Amino acid sequence: MEDEEMFLSITAPTFHSSVDFTVHDWLKKYNATSLRPVDFREYWALNVPNIYSPRADVNCLNMTFDEELAKQVLFTPLERFVCGCNDTYGVFEELKKIDNPPVLCGHVFKSEEPTYSCRDCGLDPTCVLCMECFKNSSHKNHRYKMSMNGGGGYCDCGDEEAWKAYAYCEMHLQGKQMMSAQSSPIEQIPLDLIQRVRLIMEVVLSYCHEMLSWEHPISPPPDLCPPGFRTTNESQDIYATMLFNDEIHTYDQVIHTLSRAIECSEKEATDCASTIDREGRRIVKCGTFDKCDEVRKIIERTTSRSGRKPLRVVVMHSSVIAHQIFSMRLLLWLKQMLSYSKAFHVIFSQVMMESPTTDFPLLESIILSDTQLWKAARNQWHQLFISGTLMDQQSKKTFARIFTHNYPLLMKDFIADDHEHSVSITSLSVQIFTVPTLARYLIMEEDAIYVLLRTFLTECERNRKDGKLCFERGQNIEMFRRSQYVLFDLRFLLTVKPKDWNSSLRKNFLHGIQQLLNFLSWMQGMDSVIRQVGQHIEFEAEWETGINLQLKLVPLITLVLDWCGSDRVVLVKALRAALKLLETIQEKMTAIGQEVADHSASCIECDISSMPVTIHLPLSRFVAGLVLHLSKYDLMYNSPEFLIGNKPGPEELMEPPLRTQVMIAQFRAGMWRRNGYSLVNQVSFYHNVRLREEMLDRDIMLLQIAASLIESNEFVIHLLNKYGLLIWVGDTFDTSRRSEDEYTRQTAAIAEEFLSLLITIISERYYPGIGNVTERDKVKKEIIQLLCIESMPHSQLCKMLPRDSNHETGIEDVMTEVAGLKKPTDTSTGKYELKPEFYSCFNPFFYHYTREEQSKAEEVQLKRKKQAGEEECCPPPLPPEFTPPFSIIINILQCDVIVHITNLVLKRASNLHSTAYSEGQLEKILHLIGLALHEEQRQQESKEENGFFRYTEIAEKKGILANLESCQGFPRVEAHKYLLNWTLRKFHALQRQKKEGKAMVTDVEPLPESTASTNSKRDKKQSAQQAAARRARIMAQMSAMQKSFIRQHAELLKEVDSEESSNQIEYETFVVEEGSDDPVALGNLQRGRMIYRQIYTCILCREEQEATLTGRTLVIGAFVQRSTVLSKVRNHIFENPKEFNPLLISADLSCGPHTSTCGHVMHSVCWKKFFEAVVAKERRRPVRYGRHVSYNVDKQEFLCPLCGCLSNTVIPLMPPNTTFLTNTVTETKSIKMDNWLFGLQKAVEKLQVQRLRAPLSEDESGEKFLYRYKPTSLQEVMSYFSADVSEQLHSLFSVYLQQHTLCNSFPDSLLDMIKVFCQATYTVGLNVHPHSDDERVPLMAWWSCAYTIHSIDQLLQDQKKSLFGDLSSRQAQCIQSLVRVVGASLRIFDAQVVRSHCVNLLQFLLLPEHHSCSPNCCLEVDAFTLLVFGCLSMPALFTASNNHGSNSGLAFPLGGDNELCMLHLILVFHLVQILLSIDFPTLEETETSESQHKETPEEVEICCFYFEVLNETGLENSRKSVNVQKLLRNIHQAMLPFLRCSALFFHFLTDVGAPETLQEMHGEEYQFQALCRYLGLSCHLNEVVQSSLLRQLAHCWARRARDCCLFTKEKSQMTEGGDSSPRKWVLIKYPTVINQLVCLPADYSDLINNISMFTCPNSNGDDSRSPTLCLVCGQMLCSHSYCCQMELEGVVVGACTFHAHICGAGVGMFLRIRNCEILLLGGKTKGCYMAPPYVDEYGETDQGLMRGNPLHLCKDRYRELHRLWLSHGIPEQVSHTLEQFPFLATTNWLLM
Ligand SMILES: [Zn+2]
Ligand SMILES: [Zn+2]
Ligand SMILES: [Zn+2]
Ligand SMILES: [Zn+2]
Ligand SMILES: [Zn+2]
Ligand SMILES: [Zn+2]
Ligand SMILES: [Zn+2]
Repeated sequence: MEDEEMFLSITAPTFHSSVDFTVHDWLKKYNATSLRPVDFREYWALNVPNIYSPRADVNCLNMTFDEELAKQVLFTPLERFVCGCNDTYGVFEELKKIDNPPVLCGHVFKSEEPTYSCRDCGLDPTCVLCMECFKNSSHKNHRYKMSMNGGGGYCDCGDEEAWKAYAYCEMHLQGKQMMSAQSSPIEQIPLDLIQRVRLIMEVVLSYCHEMLSWEHPISPPPDLCPPGFRTTNESQDIYATMLFNDEIHTYDQVIHTLSRAIECSEKEATDCASTIDREGRRIVKCGTFDKCDEVRKIIERTTSRSGRKPLRVVVMHSSVIAHQIFSMRLLLWLKQMLSYSKAFHVIFSQVMMESPTTDFPLLESIILSDTQLWKAARNQWHQLFISGTLMDQQSKKTFARIFTHNYPLLMKDFIADDHEHSVSITSLSVQIFTVPTLARYLIMEEDAIYVLLRTFLTECERNRKDGKLCFERGQNIEMFRRSQYVLFDLRFLLTVKPKDWNSSLRKNFLHGIQQLLNFLSWMQGMDSVIRQVGQHIEFEAEWETGINLQLKLVPLITLVLDWCGSDRVVLVKALRAALKLLETIQEKMTAIGQEVADHSASCIECDISSMPVTIHLPLSRFVAGLVLHLSKYDLMYNSPEFLIGNKPGPEELMEPPLRTQVMIAQFRAGMWRRNGYSLVNQVSFYHNVRLREEMLDRDIMLLQIAASLIESNEFVIHLLNKYGLLIWVGDTFDTSRRSEDEYTRQTAAIAEEFLSLLITIISERYYPGIGNVTERDKVKKEIIQLLCIESMPHSQLCKMLPRDSNHETGIEDVMTEVAGLKKPTDTSTGKYELKPEFYSCFNPFFYHYTREEQSKAEEVQLKRKKQAGEEECCPPPLPPEFTPPFSIIINILQCDVIVHITNLVLKRASNLHSTAYSEGQLEKILHLIGLALHEEQRQQESKEENGFFRYTEIAEKKGILANLESCQGFPRVEAHKYLLNWTLRKFHALQRQKKEGKAMVTDVEPLPESTASTNSKRDKKQSAQQAAARRARIMAQMSAMQKSFIRQHAELLKEVDSEESSNQIEYETFVVEEGSDDPVALGNLQRGRMIYRQIYTCILCREEQEATLTGRTLVIGAFVQRSTVLSKVRNHIFENPKEFNPLLISADLSCGPHTSTCGHVMHSVCWKKFFEAVVAKERRRPVRYGRHVSYNVDKQEFLCPLCGCLSNTVIPLMPPNTTFLTNTVTETKSIKMDNWLFGLQKAVEKLQVQRLRAPLSEDESGEKFLYRYKPTSLQEVMSYFSADVSEQLHSLFSVYLQQHTLCNSFPDSLLDMIKVFCQATYTVGLNVHPHSDDERVPLMAWWSCAYTIHSIDQLLQDQKKSLFGDLSSRQAQCIQSLVRVVGASLRIFDAQVVRSHCVNLLQFLLLPEHHSCSPNCCLEVDAFTLLVFGCLSMPALFTASNNHGSNSGLAFPLGGDNELCMLHLILVFHLVQILLSIDFPTLEETETSESQHKETPEEVEICCFYFEVLNETGLENSRKSVNVQKLLRNIHQAMLPFLRCSALFFHFLTDVGAPETLQEMHGEEYQFQALCRYLGLSCHLNEVVQSSLLRQLAHCWARRARDCCLFTKEKSQMTEGGDSSPRKWVLIKYPTVINQLVCLPADYSDLINNISMFTCPNSNGDDSRSPTLCLVCGQMLCSHSYCCQMELEGVVVGACTFHAHICGAGVGMFLRIRNCEILLLGGKTKGCYMAPPYVDEYGETDQGLMRGNPLHLCKDRYRELHRLWLSHGIPEQVSHTLEQFPFLATTNWLLM
């Protein structure tokens, strides 16, 4: 009834729209039960093409559809019909309330989305959480792992089967609590709604399935044809060319093809290719059939060249495309619908899987068409399956059944397809097979193990030859590779071992295992090799496939054995089946009798060195794995259960692994050298940690099994026979051979290998089932042995331990038991160090050691013992006891054959003529004796009366003891004398104890003191000699390396003696003026100059050279770079370098030319030769190898020939400027500030202007003019003053003129080098072409000097270092050479140009009318740069001469009154800047004690000045509340950077020594005083602002700044982002804060979570594949991806490169978040990676996020990165890394 009313309510209004009509019509028919699918389809046939057809008139590369209209016409009617009313929103909201929140999360992962697994609680590593659930779960405090989703899969939160504990996060726990009270979801919803939903789903799903897999591209299904549709191609209908992706063609090929076929730009083609890659297909052309077909042909033609399969491209009718697009939208809509109600899931599953009419459900037909679909369509279905069926237990089960049933077909399709596994329906297996209950159900009901293995074996048939798997080089194994996914699926099925078995589980499991055994038998003996004699092998045999297969099999076999071992019936049947199979494939063997020491055995005859041998024996090894479980059920290999046919005897069982052992022994003895790398690799993998559990370990186990079943003497004879050592054990072997004989040498080596195998068989018992140990003991042993090699970081240790990829092993526990983690220091990683008590467990012959590891471990242990004063030998440790079935093995130790061999070796050791002897044999024999003694002692201690083991008795009787004793002191035994001593002591102690019949308490008493000390003394001498020899060797090696390095860079170089220190600088005091204890750098009182003679050694010719004007010119390599490191405003790079005027440098220090140097000195001549050689070499390099990437000679770049530091210019080294001048500043007269100012004002008030035609650079044309200014002459200026003042003024400037006459002798080579450097600052700094006459060259050089000083000052500040004391020699040399060069710049620059710059500066500073119309106000100009420019240009102000950059010489600023006045002027200028930007210090902040403070005259004056300045800008003016004391303090503090920079500048300009007060770090106030004193300034600011003229100027500056101040004030009130001004303007505050890198969250997962919201700005909200954070400005970028490439200077570049250009002038430091690594970019084509600043709890970084341990920010590492950036070290770091790792050059850094 209620439904009836609902219906009525919408029928009431009249039918305004067709939509309403349609819904009404459907509902009416529905009520009359006459509604059929065709009703919907008719409607769609009419409407869909109108909306979703591609049109010919639009650019198809930018196609959009009217989604709003689609919603209204297509989707709303469906929703209204479902709801039965117009208020669909209300209905859905109601539905949502019923089960919210859900119990299961089920969030479907996108590719690369972060996922979390818990090592403590997850059932297996595939159980994952989404970020939201993880954040709200307890696991975040457990040992979690982060990883990036490989695509597909969903969140397992709420699935109790996936977690051992904490299955719910907080959100989903709520859902669980709510659910418990409810009944089935479907019962809570009105029946009619359910029926309508079912109907819609039926219609929609079958429509979608039909359309998406529609196979007639040019005609839609008949009932969906649009009106007027004709099938002829000639019609005017619209068609489209659809291009599909494949995994064969590369991105670049597709881009190339497209730009050809549809004539679009490269950028458009790139966009297009990236959509095709993402979606799987894309329309590339719309139009008539013919046009579209034309494009198709072109594409097919171009892509089928070079014999490839062409790209798939189809011409489709627009209406087919329209229906497909609509289908895709419908699936999305369905997914949305499913999210409304759990009941919908049930209905969905029913529609999909329960077909009432046929037994072929819709689902089946959809999954079977999977490979016919394109990527996006597949994904759409898969996601729908996940959210529709897998969230409901019952549906999931049905789904699993259908899936498994169709598995062979699905897998077959997948294997034949070329798409990745993650976009195949088969990838859903992980969702089903890993659920334990489902897995069990599928094994029992669907015989899943059999089905899967059968599928795999069918595929393998293709690669079988003579019953074995066989792969050949060059063969396409892609299909086989794809088929191996079955092995993963099998692992999923077997993850959880059943607790209780039943008959059908047993039956089906064994049914499946039989298939596995068959497969193993196909592998048994594959890839066998025959020893190559004579010639070296011609073709390397294929080996990779076999090894890869093993790698995938190992975890599977481990699981299968585990299952088999858990049930007696299964175990017996499996072993019987395996033995039967083994028997059938075993070859026939013939036996012959052999005899040794009166024992005989009938041995299997074969010669390993001439027959095929293999390392692939999986079937034998599988048997070994099963046998190990037997004792659990009181079974034995010989039990009646296994009495079958011709069961292999123990000799046959051990034959195959024994052959492998012998082959490896021969391989090690060098007998298989000619067999090539294929064998080398196989042998190496045989021992590899990832394979050895199922290879080496099992082989040893098989030998142990055989040893326990065969009589000991016989067993050893079998071994001797196989090793070919029967002759060696004969007494006559020695005398018949000569020691140089190859055969003798090999036999001795093989004998060692034989003894090693014996040791292994007897002492390796750390395997549950073999020895009395647990899994944990096994891991413990491995860790102890590894840590005996060296202490290791956590990750390395993990890598070297076998890992169980199926289960969590918890090795950390064991690690902490046996080792301590030595905490990481600053930037080094933490390492595990073995606890001392475990050193005694060290076994030098541990079978998992490689040879290198073995010798290293032994060396390390001996060294350690020596240091600890212990006996220097490594006796065998006591192994654990064998389990009963194996305990008989120890009998080998005392059997006659071994006794014979022992005596043989001992006798040979004491016989100098024996050729069969080797030290290794003796060591191993002693080891075996030691093992025997251990066993006897153990037997004694266990108080076993009639133990069978009587080694000491036998040994004494048969002469072993006597032989041992006679060995003592023998020269051949020297190396092992300690071990011999130990053995004898132990022997005697045991004998003694046996007689006395009491238990031995201590092991062995230490040796007598005396021998130890004499020995150690001799050893000390010996080792000292050895050390010296080693050092010499290393030195030789290093010098060889150095030589090759230099050869590589410049052939002209002669030998360099590496011993000599590279760059000796001798400092010798030359002049020390008085007053050096209280130096003053500026003004008339200047005192304390300290000048040193500097003598350098040229690194190229090794000649010594003093830096003088007369000697040969010296240079140091330097690197100029554009820098934004100090910038206060990011992205502020001048757009037009041609127009940029670097006279007034912006206060935000936005983009300056920074100079650095490595300080290595060369003659300018030597350098030139060197550089020419480098250039010539680069030119010779064939283009196809690419240019050298670590430096670019086109940009003048080269690497310092000594240290390899990146450089692009040189700075000449000059003697101190003041040394070659006779006059000093004290000769000038002092002048009052007012007079100085007035004089200069007069000088620049009236000007002569000269208009000149500007010299043009190469790439310019036309005419350009420039203006030069000339001030009023000095004479005229002097006329304004009284006589004494004009005298003063004259003396100030005449200093410069006098110099000019006195010093006239700069050598040309020096001038050249100065020009080279200045030109570099110009070209690099402005990023322009070289142009030696540009008037801005001097300014750029000066700016570089000022900028570099700024930067070094900030670096010192950041590190809290003192100004002069902590300056590194590299920094000092850099500033010194820079300052001296710019100080002398008047020597090379046109005086008129410099004079003109000077005039401009003075006008800006001194003339109010000029200042007020300047484009810059005082707040916008950097004061220190202004000071540098002022001081450097001042000497040119009144020059009369018209010289043109010649050598006639202009003067240097000397630090006289002129400079002092300039400093004074700029200081006040800076003071105004400070006052205008300072935060108003109010009274409220003061403490009461301070408020009672009496104001000093200085404070009063400054306060007054403050308000004068503020007044001028019209800002705040309330005198009362200002805290004067604080104001003054803040001003002092704010001035410090300026004063520090000035002090550095003048120190190097004047050579006045630095006062001690500035060589240490002091408080700010103290620093201020010291700096003022050093600079010749008053430290009382009231005296500084005394001059009335200066004050007037200050007012004028402040007035001009008014606009800026008001602007900033307004701006602070505006919201951010509302800034529309063309240039970003920021008020610079003083002291400037040193730029830091962005703040990073402490927890790495926070960072990952934060960026998970970041989407690519160019891909319709798609996730970015490689989100990358700029650490400088914090911007997130979509890096290294086609979607976000940009064009920069005519080249397509990646997002990071583009950003680095804007943000860092080409230099960038980024964090690639998903890879967890730092990306450095230095210039467009250069880059490198670095370790991230995140470390795990073991102090290790995880570059590439391979391990996924929780990571936290390491502050020290981050500080290190900051320092690298702040010190401008990135370009150098990049080129160093590129030089070090040449393979990095293959990365296209441009596209980052
Ligand atoms: Zn979740
Ligand atoms: Zn959850
Ligand atoms: Zn957990
Ligand atoms: Zn030289
Ligand atoms: Zn260098
Ligand atoms: Zn992007
Ligand atoms: Zn940035």
